[in-house]
Formats: sequence, structure tokens, C-alpha cells
Amino acid sequence: MNGNSEDHSFEVPEIKIKYTKLFINGHFVDSVSGKTFETRDPRTGEVIARIAEGDKEDVDLAVKAAREAFDHGKWPRMSGYERGRILMKYAELIEENVEELAALDSVDAGKLFGAGKLIDIPSASHLLRYYAGAADKVHGETLKMSRELQGYTLKEPVGVAGLIIPWNYPTTMFFFKAAPALAAGCTLVVKPAEQTPLSALFYARLAKQAGIPDGVLNVITGFGPTAGAAVASHMDIDKVSFTGSTEVGRLVMEAAAKSNLKSVSLELGGKSPLIIFDDANVDMAVNLARMAIFTNKGEVCVAGSRVYVQEGIYDEFVKKAAESAKNWVVGDPFNPRVQQGPQVDKKQFERVLKYIESGTREGATLLTGGKPCGDKGYYIEPTIFIDVKDDMSIAQDEIFGPVMSLMKFKTIEEAIQKANNTRFGLAAGIVTKDLNIANRVSRSIRAGSIWINCYFAFDADCPFGGYKMSGFGKDMGLDALDKYLHTKSVVTPLYDSPW
Ligand code: ADP
Repeated sequence: MNGNSEDHSFEVPEIKIKYTKLFINGHFVDSVSGKTFETRDPRTGEVIARIAEGDKEDVDLAVKAAREAFDHGKWPRMSGYERGRILMKYAELIEENVEELAALDSVDAGKLFGAGKLIDIPSASHLLRYYAGAADKVHGETLKMSRELQGYTLKEPVGVAGLIIPWNYPTTMFFFKAAPALAAGCTLVVKPAEQTPLSALFYARLAKQAGIPDGVLNVITGFGPTAGAAVASHMDIDKVSFTGSTEVGRLVMEAAAKSNLKSVSLELGGKSPLIIFDDANVDMAVNLARMAIFTNKGEVCVAGSRVYVQEGIYDEFVKKAAESAKNWVVGDPFNPRVQQGPQVDKKQFERVLKYIESGTREGATLLTGGKPCGDKGYYIEPTIFIDVKDDMSIAQDEIFGPVMSLMKFKTIEEAIQKANNTRFGLAAGIVTKDLNIANRVSRSIRAGSIWINCYFAFDADCPFGGYKMSGFGKDMGLDALDKYLHTKSVVTPLYDSPW
């Protein structure tokens, strides 16, 4: 580890796991089967808690509660203003528990405790407040019809929403989906990732404390092929919103099509390019590139995993990038000096190392990193490959780890062609001072988010979601609220009814 495995100068907060059961209809309950599964601390690989393992029967119970709360309960019927007030309270409660929640995501996912306290957990409150403010501004339209008719549209909640959450941002992804869905008046069955169930159960508890009625927010912990699949194929769920891998996204869509044709939105994998032009400040660009791939140990769907550098600054960039990767501190996520914690679990750790092996085997040059670090846990050195060809698997597949593929280009046209040479289209970064280049490249890249001279520039206000095989349907912004709303048209004759 980058010199910190012996560093005991930091404090690890005492971590109490308070909630380990399914949350159905306002109560924590055991799974019908009584089964549980282990959740492990990626810093050590040790078990930290046993969690109720939900399956189809449990999903059925949760959907029954959510259906009842939607069809007969207060939540979809109260005013948007009242829902908004409750969501504001929910946001406050999250802020009151920020340390405990950040610690749960650190021990469950290996995420930096400092980043959790400053970014992930506050982003949950921010999203709740943003959508709380939008809840009483859901308007339809009056229609100027082409016949003698009076028409208007009503926006109504879509019903019971199934939310399937990944493990890389257990808190943010929960609220990317739950915040707009709740504001819209939907009721929810949330399936957190099996690797990271802890904070979701805490959020269920806080939802009740905030005054969200029983049955509105249910959480079923468990595995994807069982509990997740039961959500995707349920006949009484009206919408499924999924974030995760492209392969599983395909299964979710297939299950939706084969069951009740519930509407689907998918936020899937990425292989995002970061394009750095000759006029860039090289130090700034190196820092940005390092942050774009090594943040959250590369377990980020928008990670800038393909870095294209123009030939004039390529050699200088390569030299500085290697140094900067070596200075990136890997270690215990509770240590405030650390910039990169462990990969989420053994499976991901091994998967990333396999990709690193494949990079070398396929002929790329390992510039730096490439090995596990530390004597326990799932830590991997920040890794950079050069001499990467477009068709190598490290240039095409989503690795979801701290592995950068660094490539050279000559012209703008070549950069655009290479950046688009992927089946994904989630995000892209551009570094240049030239406005014409920035504008031209932004328009030419087929991806949902373009960051010019910045990266990870997210905001509650800014819709986020993919093109191509990165999925469809936006999280955040008012687009996400709309995902959880139906549009109903209401029409009456203007004069005595001719009907
Ligand atoms: P990753 O490959 O990054 O681990 P996944 O796409 O497998 O991510 O998982 C994202 C979420 O999808 C998790 O909550 C997981 O349990 C769930 N999931 C996995 N398989 C299925 C499935 N067949 N149907 C529905 N959900 C699933």
C-alpha cells in the first residue's frame, strides 16, 4: 500500500449495524425463508453482518404493501406540497446521521469515509430537497385542440416503482431513484445490491421517522437473480428503474417485456473517453485524468477509462501521469490521507486483475501499477497502460477498476472517431481552451454527459443518463421526475355534446 498500511494515526468510528432485516410495510421483518447472507468489509474480507435474504415471496409481500399504499393510501393523494415537506424532513434526518451513514458505506463498499461525509451523504439530502421543491410544481398543460374540444393533461404517478440499485454508490444511487419517485407520489420496492445493503436499511428507517407512510418505501435485501429478478418480472410493479451492468440491464428489460410490459429505465455501463488537446495545461489535465479514473477506485460508471492525448503533449503527459499515479494514496478508506480504498469485493478485485493481465497479454505496455497492494483486503495499485489499441479488451470493456488506457491522437477528427468507437455512451470529457474545439467535439460525441475542462460535474439539476448501450431514461433533473409520472389527457366538448 502506498506507505500507509502502517499508518495508525487516524480514528475509525465505532460501527454499529442496527438494521439487518427486510423493511416491509413500515416494519423490519425476517425473510419468509428465514435465510440470511453475509456482507463483508472489503478492507479485510471479514464478515461484518448477516442480512435477511429476500426472495420472490418477500418481494410479493413488499409489492402488496406498496400496491395498497398506492391504490388506497395517502401518499399519492396528498398534495405535492405536503409530500415535499415530508421529503425535506427526510433530508434533515439524513444530515443528522451523516457520520454513521458514511461509515456504513465505507465498511460495506470500501468508499472513502471523508468523501461519504462531504459528498455522497449530503448528495442524498440535496436530491431530496431538490425534488421536494419540485413536488408541488408538477403541472399538466392546457391544449389548444384542432377541433371544438377542451383538453388538458394531468401528470399522475406511475404507481409502484421497483428500484434496483448497484453497489458502487449505495447512497447516491438509492436517492437518484427514490427521491424523484417519492416526489412524484409513487410507492417503492427498493432492491439494494447484495454487496452493500447496510445504508439502504438505515434509509428505510429514516423514511418512517420522517413521516413517509408505511408501505410507501419498502426495502428487500437479497441477490440479483432471485430478489432482483422478482422485482423485474413482477406483474404488479408498474415501472422498474435499474442501474448496473449492461448484461443485467438486458435481463431486466427482458423480464419486464415477458411479464407486464412495465416501463423500464436503465443506467448501464460506460467506457468514457477523456480527450486532451495540445493547448491544455498539462498539469491540470493530468490531475483531471487521474481523478476521472481513480476516484472511487474506478468503480464509477462514468469513469474516464480511455484517455486520448494529442501528440504534441503526449510524451510530457505520459511522464507526469505515471508520477501522479504513484502519488495517489491507496489504503484504509477511514484514513483522511487516503485517496483510494479497496475494491468492493473479492469478485471485483479478481475481475480487475484479470483485465490487467489481459492488457499485458494483448500487447499494451504497463506504464505503472498493475498489482494488488497490502497483505489483506482488496486493494489494487492505480494502473496505467500505454500503447493501447482500440480493439483491445482494456479499451472496449468496462473494467470498473483503477485502470487507465492512455492513447495518442493527431487530429480532432481522429479524436472524435476514437471516442465514439465504443458500444457505450454515458459520458465524455474534453480538455481544451479552444471554444471551437470544445463545441465541435461536444456535439460530435454520442454520450449523455459532456464535461468540458471538468469531470464528474454532477448536480441535482442536471439530467444524467446514457446513449447507446449505456441505457436510456435520465436520473436527476426534472427529466427524472417525469420518468415516474404518466401523462393523462382529459377532453370535453366545448359546446353541447354532439356525442
Ligand atoms: P455489477 O455487475 O456491477 O455487480 P449488477 O448489474 O450485477 O452489477 O448488479 C446491479 C444490481 O442488479 C444489484 O442490485 C443486483 O443484485 C441486481 N441484479 C443482478 N442480477 C439481476 C437480475 N437477473 N435481475 C434483476 N436484478 C439483478
